[in-house]
Amino acid sequence: MIVELINTGTELLLGRVLNTHQQWLCRRLADLGYVVSRQVAVPDTGPAIQQVVVESLSRADLVVVTGGLGPTSDDITRDLIARLLGRTLREDPAIVAHIRNYFESRKRPMPESTRIQAQVPEGAIVLPNPNGTAPGLAMPIATNPFRAGNGALLVMLPGPPRELRPMFSECVVPLLQKHLPAAGSFACRTLRSIGIGESVVQEMVAPLLQSFVGRGLEIGYCARPGRVDVRLASSTADAARMVKEAEAIVAAKLGKNLYGFEDDDLETAVVHLLTKRGQTLALAESCTGGYISHLITNVPGASAVLLAGLVTYSNAAKQQFVGVNQATLEAHGAVSEPVAREMAEGIRHKTGADYALAVTGIAGPGGGTSEKPLGTVFIALARPEPTVVLKQQNAYDRETFKQVTAQRALDMLRRTVA
Ligand code: ATP
Ligand code: MG
Repeated sequence: MIVELINTGTELLLGRVLNTHQQWLCRRLADLGYVVSRQVAVPDTGPAIQQVVVESLSRADLVVVTGGLGPTSDDITRDLIARLLGRTLREDPAIVAHIRNYFESRKRPMPESTRIQAQVPEGAIVLPNPNGTAPGLAMPIATNPFRAGNGALLVMLPGPPRELRPMFSECVVPLLQKHLPAAGSFACRTLRSIGIGESVVQEMVAPLLQSFVGRGLEIGYCARPGRVDVRLASSTADAARMVKEAEAIVAAKLGKNLYGFEDDDLETAVVHLLTKRGQTLALAESCTGGYISHLITNVPGASAVLLAGLVTYSNAAKQQFVGVNQATLEAHGAVSEPVAREMAEGIRHKTGADYALAVTGIAGPGGGTSEKPLGTVFIALARPEPTVVLKQQNAYDRETFKQVTAQRALDMLRRTVA
């Protein structure tokens, strides 16, 4: 089956909006067995959209088009595709009622222009949009004028991600399974590791998977700051079993470096581990500016685990709120092993948490010395056992510095608790 994705939107080509639909839809489609073979972004102009839709229909069985279903003058996708396929548009009273209700429930007047979103091409299936006004549309095309002897399914989805994503999951997935059941099998699994570099991960796992590769397993490595994902994929007849067997081998080899699968993140792993054990956490952050607290509080259920997260940025705050000694600051400086230790032990003592993490470092771009170069950071973990302090050199831009440092800190905790 040939699947193509068209993202419309001049803002994508001007670099104003990141094309997240490309990644999100390709991923979801691939997981369902519909691997996208071509993706293209085009501006919101009639000729550009028309040309690319004709091209895609001349090749593909499934064409997904995003954006341009709204009420403004640059929203022309629906109209253009209807014309291209010779379908007349008619107003759907149920959609008009939905739009009216949408505005009424928000106590806003309904602009007359929004009514255009109730226009439905002949033969199209309406995909309701509970999160916005423009419905999606799916058009089964029995005889494709651009590819003789073939049918096609053309799906149009609204641009805003918070409208597109639930619509895809709730409406498009069942529709695909009904109208275009995926032929063959496809299986894919991502294993997420931390603490070892990309090429070391490859050296560890690749030799063990040689026979699988010979039988059609694809291995991909994706490095992110501080972490490496290993992706195992197969489209062979026994894809699911092959990927499962390979997964077991990779998981065993990665050991404690493996922190999760698919979209799992470290903070979720940490919150789940602590919740399971009924244990608590406190944080004293300097150079990460509350970023670890932010990550932890992104996880639903974090309140069962996190007691407090302080940003003790100045020396005075380190003394006042977490009990760092002035003598320690004077003798070693704020970025030092003893200060990190006192911060972690101080906040653990004050909150009564089972575990406490503290970070202090030099994010840069200024402030480095030959003794403590830019990117120097101390991460302390206070726990029922003796406190441990890790020294790292994370010389990156400020944002990456925070990310990498936070990941390291969370990983230190994860390895201790797991
Ligand atoms: P609306 O009714 O909001 O106008 P629409 O279906 O007409 O929706 P667009 O006008 O193309 O869609 O896009 C609306 C918004 O959705 C854009 O401003 C952008 O923020 C977001 N968006 C559109 N396409 C993408 C994309 N490919 N990736 C991420 N966000 C997108
Ligand atoms: Mg729009």
